[in-house]
Amino acid sequence: MTERITDRLAPHPESHSKFWQNAHLYFDRVYQSMNLDPTWRSVLSTPKRVLTVSCPIRMDDGRIQVFTGYRAQHSNARGPFKGGIRYDTAVNMDEVMALAMLQTWKNALVDLPYGGAKGGVVCDPRKLSMGEKERLTRRYTSEIMPIIGPMEDIPAPDAGTDGQIMSWVLDTYSMMIGHQALGVVTGKPVTLGGSLGREEATGRGVMYVLRKFLSTQNKKLSDVRIAVQGFGNVGFHAARLLAERGATIVAISERASGLFDEGGIDIDAAGRFYRENGTLNGLEGDSISNEELLACECDVLIPAAMENTVTAAVAPHIKARIVCEGANGPTTPEADEMLRENGVTLLPDILSNAGGVTVSYFEWVQGLENFFWDIKRVNSELQIIMERAFDQVNAKADEADCDYRTAAYTIAISRVAEALRLKGLFP
Ligand code: NAD
Repeated sequence: MTERITDRLAPHPESHSKFWQNAHLYFDRVYQSMNLDPTWRSVLSTPKRVLTVSCPIRMDDGRIQVFTGYRAQHSNARGPFKGGIRYDTAVNMDEVMALAMLQTWKNALVDLPYGGAKGGVVCDPRKLSMGEKERLTRRYTSEIMPIIGPMEDIPAPDAGTDGQIMSWVLDTYSMMIGHQALGVVTGKPVTLGGSLGREEATGRGVMYVLRKFLSTQNKKLSDVRIAVQGFGNVGFHAARLLAERGATIVAISERASGLFDEGGIDIDAAGRFYRENGTLNGLEGDSISNEELLACECDVLIPAAMENTVTAAVAPHIKARIVCEGANGPTTPEADEMLRENGVTLLPDILSNAGGVTVSYFEWVQGLENFFWDIKRVNSELQIIMERAFDQVNAKADEADCDYRTAAYTIAISRVAEALRLKGLFP
């Protein structure tokens, strides 16, 4: 019986996108080295459920446009599904399935009582008016309504979505069930039951992990020059918090432009400019392309833009000795291998960018209890969780004599596999 289930769920790698294949490659590599029961492999590598929805929206000019959306729920072995919603033209089913799986490992690694999920809508949020975005969000929420809920699946922001969009998710869900359900979504504005510190939490987590790693090398943040790719939620806050602690941010970039200053960029000023203009283009300083940023003179590279930006083509040119992944899946497996062979230390996404989901967890807990924490408590609990996760990964890497990604996956997969094993199969 178990054999048949395993066969039915077996993924067919060749029919999937590169990103999905990459996510599975990391998983498979570690799973095979762990001596775990092979019967659970397919269950662990296959999403439990993927919902595709179509959302017809009345556009401002009167036309009706249909947008495709997805919600992939990878695993709920350790608790309700949890993961972001992305608005981007590149969103596709493979991408949300891969990101949902990554989310399962991330939540397990920082030991949150959640499984992993991810959602997305194929759209360019910058080309939608506020009204169109609201109608799209409300329709998408109502379409995925049957599978979300405070105890079922809790969405959050991801690339292209923000607190305003989460407010519409909250309101749509609450209107449909007849009362406010703060626990249905995280990343809400603070006035609507959001947590203090959530907006900057991913960047703050990146800072905690990098600082902790540097301390194992007897180094401080003030000793390092950092290049940050992507200047959105993760990139901006990571750069800002690192600069506040003495790091020199020598390069930043967004989709279309970048800036280099070996003396250090004024991150607050760049942040204001980016918020006002939606680009770094026009900001005073030496401009660089995204490719040049990845290969610039620095000690630490933080890819915080999108997946697959650190490829085998750029890996040999990377001068940084530390790559701290702010984005999800920014390094392809080929680049990962090349960097390791070149002696570069890679702090993997499921560890270094887990600060966002950790404070999302705090927000969920606060919303369920209707009792709200001050910022000091949020940041100190976040620091405890991030540093504990780093210590566990560091100890596992030492013990198994492996790289940090392998160590992080080993811890995460064993936690999920253990939960599955203890629960057994239903029915
Ligand atoms: P965002 O939309 O706020 O910002 C993305 C930034 O990257 C923008 O500055 C954009 O111009 C830039 N960018 C996009 N494509 C690029 C490219 N090809 N090259 C260079 N720059 C590019 O998104 P975000 O919330 O900061 O998320 C960034 C990454 O971090 C994503 O991979 C996301 O899944 C991941 N992540 C986000 C959070 C969170 O809390 N927001 C948590 C964990 C992981």
